[in-house]
Amino acid sequence: MATRPASRQRKASPAAAAAKSSQQQQQQPQSGSPTSSATTSSSRLTPEMSVDGPASPLFAGLDEDPGTKENVTVTVRFRPLSPREIRQGEEVAWYADGDTVVRSEQNPNVGYAYDRVFAPTTTTRQVYDVAAQHVVSGAMEGIYGTIFAYGVTSSGKTHTMHGDQRSPGIIPLAVKDAFSIIQETPNREFLLRVSYLEIYNEVVNDLLNPAGQSLRIREDPQGTFVEGIKEEVVLSPAHALSLIAAGEEHRHVGSTNFNLLSSRSHTIFTLTIESSSYGESNEGEAVTFSQLNLIDLAGSESSRAETTGVRRKEGSYINKSLLTLGTVISKLTDGKATHIPFRDSKLTRLLQSSLSGQGRVSLICTVTPASSNSEETHNTLKFAHRAKRIEVQASQNK
Ligand code: ADP
Ligand code: MG
Repeated sequence: MATRPASRQRKASPAAAAAKSSQQQQQQPQSGSPTSSATTSSSRLTPEMSVDGPASPLFAGLDEDPGTKENVTVTVRFRPLSPREIRQGEEVAWYADGDTVVRSEQNPNVGYAYDRVFAPTTTTRQVYDVAAQHVVSGAMEGIYGTIFAYGVTSSGKTHTMHGDQRSPGIIPLAVKDAFSIIQETPNREFLLRVSYLEIYNEVVNDLLNPAGQSLRIREDPQGTFVEGIKEEVVLSPAHALSLIAAGEEHRHVGSTNFNLLSSRSHTIFTLTIESSSYGESNEGEAVTFSQLNLIDLAGSESSRAETTGVRRKEGSYINKSLLTLGTVISKLTDGKATHIPFRDSKLTRLLQSSLSGQGRVSLICTVTPASSNSEETHNTLKFAHRAKRIEVQASQNK
């Protein structure tokens, strides 16, 4: 997501040095303090270690020159059958076979292939290492990054993006990683700012400033930005995460026909990152500016079954924005498209600066294996396949 950055004039922020030194102070481990649990690179799994089988060539090349690698990765994450689904005798309708998703009752067993498929036993930490870490480290180097969780209600989007104490999600892992990178980069000074917004029925609300007016997306020659959004300078992971917790209180949620508390809005958590080399802050080329957008999308279930007018209206807005997102990502993947319809939804319009150019995009599609959700899972798999078409390897077509 783009906001109007302080460094659009490509000057280092004078606050950057102060932020860096107070980050260092704040990050001294204190027992019981959330900041003391910041991850270190030595404790992190590598992609090769993190999932069954070797890492695909795609991920092996991600740290190379940003101009030559693929910028869009599409992965599918299975959640386990829930205890309730097991009690109800649900069967496994779809399963992971390597990096292909196969339908159980289908014969022959041809499925859909992705950059990576995460089996139900995969932890969020392992998903992070493969599908998020390169986006976060890129953002710290000045490459825009965007990570989406896409899927139907209760497929595991929020578990993947936010998680909980036992299983932290991609957002807390990314925030901790960002601060670890700052610690490990002594020759640069950083300024990190956080914003948190929600798109509900094509209206953009500032979750850090709930009393404010809805926000407008504006455009200038450098791209789109959200006018007047509240941004807070953050000095520690705990500080950033406390802002999300406060913002969560202001989300729109509603009960769907699935009898579940379901998210009907998209939320975008944005980390805005500025950095400059020590001693060179007046030299434009030493300054970087980028944004990392971490997005928990609204449930992608079809709106046909909705009974009330309000729910149908929400559903049609959600469907339109997700359809546009799919079109935009597939055109970015294609690389040759001339017209990319960013303007067709608020979601893609406000992400335009992040998605275009060399920005890194990771689409994580969450699915349940459960047979009762088989058709919705199929819709998610088709969406993911359309976003990035990957040929099924002959060896996986058994
Ligand atoms: P969504 O945000 O897509 O509606 P949630 O993330 O809320 O779905 O997940 C629904 C339920 O399933 C939650 O109770 C969550 O803890 C659980 N769940 C989701 N994904 C996993 C997973 N990979 N492993 C274990 N439990 C999961
Ligand atoms: Mg959710």
